[in-house]
Amino acid sequence: MTSGMTGNNPTRQEGWQFDCRVCGGETFCVIDLGNHPFANALLSAPENHVKRYPLALHVCASCATAQLSYCANDHELYDDYLYITPRSDSLTVHYAHIADFLASRGALGPHTRVAEIGSNIGRLLEFLQPRVASILGIDPAANVAQMANEAGIPTVNAFFNRESAIDIREREGQKDLMLARHCFAHNEKPWLMLEGVRELLAPEGTLLIENAYFLDTVARGEFDQIYHEHMYYHTLRSISAIVERQGMTLVDAYHSDIHGGTMVYIIRFAEAAGPISPRLQELLAKEGDMHRPAFYTAFTRQIEQNKVDLNTLLDGLLVQGQRIHAYGASAKSTTLLNYYGLDAQRIPCVVDSTPEKQGKYIPQVNCRIISEEAALADPADYYLLTIWNYKDEVIRKVRSRGNQHSRFILPHPEVQIADA
Ligand SMILES: [Zn+2]
Repeated sequence: MTSGMTGNNPTRQEGWQFDCRVCGGETFCVIDLGNHPFANALLSAPENHVKRYPLALHVCASCATAQLSYCANDHELYDDYLYITPRSDSLTVHYAHIADFLASRGALGPHTRVAEIGSNIGRLLEFLQPRVASILGIDPAANVAQMANEAGIPTVNAFFNRESAIDIREREGQKDLMLARHCFAHNEKPWLMLEGVRELLAPEGTLLIENAYFLDTVARGEFDQIYHEHMYYHTLRSISAIVERQGMTLVDAYHSDIHGGTMVYIIRFAEAAGPISPRLQELLAKEGDMHRPAFYTAFTRQIEQNKVDLNTLLDGLLVQGQRIHAYGASAKSTTLLNYYGLDAQRIPCVVDSTPEKQGKYIPQVNCRIISEEAALADPADYYLLTIWNYKDEVIRKVRSRGNQHSRFILPHPEVQIADA
């Protein structure tokens, strides 16, 4: 069983659960990555004995919901959260697609009152502001909520649940559109968020949830999507299973290739749901046997093969005297570097454009985070592209700033040196 566990009865340990959190059904283990540090808990100095927590992915044999068997305590995980949405051309294009999609469904227009859960510094709300009646952000991280307010995006600093939703409703009234992008999987009890939505969303309103799409994660071997903040790995089936228990219905969805594959889910109250879109029915048919262990055999085999291939490639390059850094100190990089055993001995530096991260270290592996300017002044021969989801953008940026020398290594779906 998972290392790091103590006692004879694991189900009684705090944080552990081996029955499905959504339906109570039996789960099976897809992959056990061992003990890992929190992905976003960057260090201010190298440390060899950081606190680590079990990281194992289980799937429910009944409702197919993928979930961590061990969920860390919210406050331990989020109190010093350091994720700032980057300014990115591909994200702006994605926001435009979301806005068009919502408008085509009649869910977004000049009279729409919008609230976003987990709004971070408010990039999406800033984009929507000229197109809607009002915007409001809600974020549990005090530092990012403050940054948003200072930038003119009204943001409430709170965990979103029934209590905070009532509080907001009493001050500002209900909302017509609520957004929860890349945060719905960040809580062990997502139904608490939905209880809040029930209070704040108007009866005819629309809830949009967006998450990395687990079917893509599996198909492309993107195991580094697995880290403690991601307590769930959603599919159409798992979202359906969760919202139906709260009197809501998944009525539509669309798939985007951004970030290695995401799904946008459109949810309405059951009484106002209307018909389910043909597009959703088509997408559902592709999910197949995700509730069966055999579905994941190729995924786990590929992860182990890529681990061998990447270590072999890097060792070969190091023997030739090549300098290797990583590009992108995202949460994914902590899982990737730690699970593949790539520490500062081999990858001394990770380049990242977020000033708040620079000068810090990736936990446990102790790779130092440097700025893009520092990287440009002294480029590595190879960059392991840990933010593979921004591949084209990173390579274009590096080349346009005059670095024609460095080459880029992609960790999946297969380990390869990028062409550009
Ligand atoms: Zn289940």
